[in-house]
Amino acid sequence: MDQFCKNIESNLHRWDLAETPDYPLCGQRGTLQHIHTSCNVALAQGRYTWRHNKVLRELADILEKERKNTRSNQPRPTHTQIRFVRERERRTSRSEKSTGIISQAGDWRLAVDLNQRLKFPDIVPTNLRPDMVLWSPGSKKIIIIELTVPWEERCSEANERKRIKYEALLLECREQGWQTWNYPVKVGCRGFPAQSVWRMLSALGLAGRTRRAAVPRMAKAAERASCWVWMRKDPSSWTPTTDAQ
Ligand SMILES: [Zn+2]
Repeated sequence: MDQFCKNIESNLHRWDLAETPDYPLCGQRGTLQHIHTSCNVALAQGRYTWRHNKVLRELADILEKERKNTRSNQPRPTHTQIRFVRERERRTSRSEKSTGIISQAGDWRLAVDLNQRLKFPDIVPTNLRPDMVLWSPGSKKIIIIELTVPWEERCSEANERKRIKYEALLLECREQGWQTWNYPVKVGCRGFPAQSVWRMLSALGLAGRTRRAAVPRMAKAAERASCWVWMRKDPSSWTPTTDAQ
């Protein structure tokens, strides 16, 4: 089973052959899109949430590592030791330094709406629970990330809806003097991350090899989870807690 889940191309090929007139879960026509993103029974069983959380967990892990790195690399305040550097040196060090948002503070906190319900940081009262919040109390910066795992990763409509959902909340944060960022990102359920994922990681400060390694992790998580959703056609075959891996 694991072997089967590993090969994206063979999965896609098999999925193409997999349309069934009657999807056992609900009795409707089992198009791939129906099975993967539109079935109300699958939705009610928590299949899509489970898959979404698989991808979210990968992203959380990636950003947690970045957050910890930044904390340990953060220089101490240096007002007592001003160093004069030659122009060329300065240019070199500037270009090597990460310019991402995460590098701009050393006290980032990360909250993810996974095991515990996310509690929005104490900036403004709200019941909204974005998938992920990164915030730096010291520098008053806050980043909201909302992940979707849709059928079609290129469609921008879902992204805009997610962006608008949190805009009012972030406006309130800005009124409290906070600097805000809003990143709705998409990883297609067939394992294709949208440009929004690459852009968000860059903006946060993941570059080069780190970013190139991060994106496929999310893609694989989506693809693998979709593979499980597809294979478990039988309504009683779904036990997300035991299938946690
Ligand atoms: Zn259905």
